[in-house]
Amino acid sequence: MAVKPSITAREVLSAWGRILAGRLPLLSIEITRECPLSCPGCYAFGESHLGGEVTLRELADKRGDALVNGVLALVHRHKPVQVSLVGGEPLVRHRELSRILPALSEMGVFTMVVTSAVIPIPGEWMSLRRMRVAVSVDGLPEHHDVRRKPATYDRILKNIAGREVNIHWTITQPMLSRSSYLEEYVSFWNARPEVNRIWVSLYTPQVGEHSAEMLTTDDRRFVANALPRLTARYPKLLCNRGVAEALITPPRNPQDCLFAKMSANYSADLKSRVEPCVFGGSPDCSQCGCAASSGLHWIRGVRAIGPLKVGHFVQSSIAIGRAVSRLRSGEAVSSRWHTAAQAGAPAPPVDFESTLVHIEQAQMRAEQPKRRRSARLAPND
Ligand code: SF4
Ligand code: SF4
Repeated sequence: MAVKPSITAREVLSAWGRILAGRLPLLSIEITRECPLSCPGCYAFGESHLGGEVTLRELADKRGDALVNGVLALVHRHKPVQVSLVGGEPLVRHRELSRILPALSEMGVFTMVVTSAVIPIPGEWMSLRRMRVAVSVDGLPEHHDVRRKPATYDRILKNIAGREVNIHWTITQPMLSRSSYLEEYVSFWNARPEVNRIWVSLYTPQVGEHSAEMLTTDDRRFVANALPRLTARYPKLLCNRGVAEALITPPRNPQDCLFAKMSANYSADLKSRVEPCVFGGSPDCSQCGCAASSGLHWIRGVRAIGPLKVGHFVQSSIAIGRAVSRLRSGEAVSSRWHTAAQAGAPAPPVDFESTLVHIEQAQMRAEQPKRRRSARLAPND
């Protein structure tokens, strides 16, 4: 099966251009409040996901023309480089998606549909440029089939047959009960012909949460040590040592989180914002395990020119973008781009594929000088 092209250098430059113009390069939209599953630990249906006044299930979501036009209007307004379409279960609205996705592809927007694959993925989507489907698979059958009933492995394999998908795995504490678990999971999905990439997050709790899913500090170290070694053996897995390190030392708070700063997140009425990041509520940044956030947190510290790191350029770009956005009234800019005082609000407590592809490219750039250095040293020096 041909591998879909990843985001291009032109699109990366375009993302930077968006920041300089005072816009947010990442947009995520919960396109429906409906989901046939009821997973324990689902943050989308949590009481505090939308700030506590209203829950996702209570929102007036849209369907038909209203959903198609509403999503496209948000994209026109924000002009993002990437859109993540999530839920609820977005495939509940597969008819609308079959109109939305070609339109976004035509607009040159990179789109990711994040699904539990409980509903078959339409085959015609596979020919769309800049479109990917990410399937959430929460561990081996012994855990996934309990957490995501009736999204069993059998059902997922049937619904992704003949398609091309990414696999997204959120690791929870019970999955660390035996040392071989991580490799069993990665080797299974790495061998599947339908799978393009595998990316991994750790369970991210809310502030004050005490649940069986949460990882301890030692658990996080164990995973951060194991994943880069597995990446070397299973090429579909995306987790280099820098990203793994970021899983141990995540951003201190949303102001420190590049991912939160670069994304706008909408819920199912297409008006309510999910803050401060895709998790909503009061996520515990000190235990954040989000793959995209970790990747961007790591990339921020990568040296770009001399002593200057990528983070210096991003901060400068955000400052320029903030100035530009002040000149342009009525545009939506992330609240994380302002200090709390500037935003007139208390300090607040985005498929991911393009982010991770940027990370892969940055990793290769970061490792090239090392490889060249070792080549110069060997064998006669
Ligand atoms: S499939 Fe996703 S949205 Fe639906 S209940 Fe499970 S975690 Fe929540
Ligand atoms: S919980 Fe949200 S805001 Fe905090 S570090 Fe993770 S992605 Fe960023």
